[in-house]
Amino acid sequence: MSLFKRKNQPSSTANPAPQNSLAELALANIHDGVVITDHNGQIQYANPAAATIIGQPSADMIGFDASLLLKIESIEGRKLPDNENLLLQAVRTGQALESYKVCLVISQGTKRIPVSFSVIPVNDSKGSRIITFRDIAKELAEEGEQTEFISTASHEMRTPVASIEGYLSLALNPQTATIDERARTYLNSAHAAAQHLGHLFRDLLDVTKLDDGRLRPTFQAVEMVGLVKQISDQYLMQARQANLSYQFGSTNPSLDTPRRLDQVVYGYIDVNFMREIIDNLLDNAVKYTPSGGSIYVNVIGDGDRVLINVTDTGIGISSDDLGHIFQKFYRADNSDTRTIGGTGLGLYLVKQRVEAMGGRVWAESAFGEGSTFYVSLPRISGEEYEKLSIALNKVQGGTQ
Ligand code: ADP
Repeated sequence: MSLFKRKNQPSSTANPAPQNSLAELALANIHDGVVITDHNGQIQYANPAAATIIGQPSADMIGFDASLLLKIESIEGRKLPDNENLLLQAVRTGQALESYKVCLVISQGTKRIPVSFSVIPVNDSKGSRIITFRDIAKELAEEGEQTEFISTASHEMRTPVASIEGYLSLALNPQTATIDERARTYLNSAHAAAQHLGHLFRDLLDVTKLDDGRLRPTFQAVEMVGLVKQISDQYLMQARQANLSYQFGSTNPSLDTPRRLDQVVYGYIDVNFMREIIDNLLDNAVKYTPSGGSIYVNVIGDGDRVLINVTDTGIGISSDDLGHIFQKFYRADNSDTRTIGGTGLGLYLVKQRVEAMGGRVWAESAFGEGSTFYVSLPRISGEEYEKLSIALNKVQGGTQ
């Protein structure tokens, strides 16, 4: 007996699989699963690889709601409510989705395979969505080995690098050493390089902690406007020193985003992750905004999401770079960024932490004019906040 309820049985002409025999051959032989739905998410076509991965014959899938067959959980095995299920949202809204890594739950909930999903909306009369997915178990295992190596190597190298940095500082300090001007120039360069290496190892350790599962989010119900304000207000001095204006609760007037300072917005998040996210975004805003510029931070409730924006009027990011900045080690290469230090790991860390909390991060920018980084996280209601806070107090009370 089939597990799934069939919606309307499609007519035999419903299958939009390409009639072109070469294209059909390709779809029949690739290892990636391909499922095509209409705008309601009803499956119109599934290739043999999709059938193998899901464990249902292709013909049996036609007419089913894709969300019933493509049940997913986070890679860590956490259930995803609808508002965190980006696959479901992409199919429902017709928005494109790329490389969404989750676990596909199959065999009546008894088996989980890590897969990477993409959704491509098609501009045809049915509002079709092409969903592709591939098994990434091997990829994840290799990444795991790599992460372990990087983490051990960074850990081992941090101590000698700190010692090199310390001795160079002593050599450069007139109270502890006497050196001539030429040696000072060389040692200054060596000191800057040692500091860069130190930052690199620190950032590498931070990103591997989550990659290899040593670090997991500890969720907590919090009021987001207050929390983000508390974290970002600590940048007031740094902004002042760089001759930048900083404002919280306001957006760049030219961005035309509603100003809702008095809003109370609740989220269910990891406070330490939130701190790392805001710290990295504000570090960048300060670093990439020339003197005289401005930084704006804002938090609003946007339906079932909490939307945070960090905006600057800095050097901006070209459209070529914009699609890559969240990748590990990616740094835009132009005359401005070449003189500004960095490891290319900050935004990767931000993306990693945001996604671990069921959120999404993206950037909008005009080269030479400034950038806005958006973080969208699941929002909870006031009632849920009360309930979760009471539950937490009870647990804490019980453990005291
Ligand atoms: P980095 O350590 O190089 O700052 P990140 O991962 O934090 O690494 O950022 C990646 C790249 O994205 C940076 O090298 C820079 O080119 C670009 N970038 C990030 N934030 C900004 C910003 N606010 N303004 C302009 N460019 C930015």
